[in-house]
Amino acid sequence: MKLVALFLALTLVTMGCQTPESSTISPSPTPRETSTQSKNTQSKTKLLVVTTVAPITNIVSNIAGDRVEVKGIIPEGTDSHTFQPRPSDADLLSKANLILSNGLRLEVPTEKLANSSKPKDTKIYQLGNNTITEKEWMFDFSFPQEKGSPNPHLWVNPKYAMTYAKLVAKHLTELDPEGKNYYETNLKNYLQRLEELDKATREVVASIPEKNRKLLTYHDSWAYWAREYGFQVIGAIQPSDFNEPSAKDIAKLVDQVRQSGVPAIFGSEVYPSTIAEQIAREAKVKTANTADDELPGEGSANAMENKNPEHTYIGMMVNNLKIIASNLGGNPDLMNKVNSGNVVGATATSE
Ligand SMILES: [Zn+2]
Repeated sequence: MKLVALFLALTLVTMGCQTPESSTISPSPTPRETSTQSKNTQSKTKLLVVTTVAPITNIVSNIAGDRVEVKGIIPEGTDSHTFQPRPSDADLLSKANLILSNGLRLEVPTEKLANSSKPKDTKIYQLGNNTITEKEWMFDFSFPQEKGSPNPHLWVNPKYAMTYAKLVAKHLTELDPEGKNYYETNLKNYLQRLEELDKATREVVASIPEKNRKLLTYHDSWAYWAREYGFQVIGAIQPSDFNEPSAKDIAKLVDQVRQSGVPAIFGSEVYPSTIAEQIAREAKVKTANTADDELPGEGSANAMENKNPEHTYIGMMVNNLKIIASNLGGNPDLMNKVNSGNVVGATATSE
């Protein structure tokens, strides 16, 4: 269903774009393109930036706007941790002018394919590895130290998303120096939204009784968020091999939930497991789903193709915080003032 809707949305976007080139403000070709493209195609060819997960695609496209084409490889709603790129992705990567991944070992197969498919001059830049140092990496429940892969979910922390956005603007400017002012403006507008998100998050957290500021989730994606906002991640249901937990582990988790006194635990839509429900039932607590790389509702992660103002990285975090607040005794309405729309494309508003 989602794919059909996405296809329809893309068709509509394509149809809507059939206005003459001259009637829209299109960015001028960059020197790099002029040197590699033939004269009659250069006005239509944009630089191509390839990204990986939906939240990163959304952040990158908010800065890139209409100057650069942004394509995300990992489909929304897919398990990004076990994702294997398709042969067609090699094709896309072979045309990329810049590849932006999260890093911290999240997209190893995709980065490997990128290395073997990309043009020689194209850079693969890992946003996460350049946001924090290895010393700040977190190893925890589903990402134990002995396995060597840290918890990669930096973007769930809006503070780190701000760094991602700044790094994206820097690298787009390096790639396309003529777009410097454009990227700077988009960055400024986008950072303002992220600041709002950060501020509202702190207010929501403050509204949750201190004893309830604990998270037990199915998917272990809240480590960096919790460190930032004073929450304690007491556990994760998903084992480090991404299979289902054993009966023994489930019994342990039920005990842990009972002892912690949390009123709710959280599942994940990307991993539709009944285990979270089972644990919640046995421990007599509530359960609801949060998300870390699936944007809410229908739409495109690419800001230029998207028509749903909630289908954004910010929208995902607003939704998460509302779910967390309403299940842990806080005030979800404090998130209502955050504008979750993109700063470019159809959902950009002029407020
Ligand atoms: Zn994840």
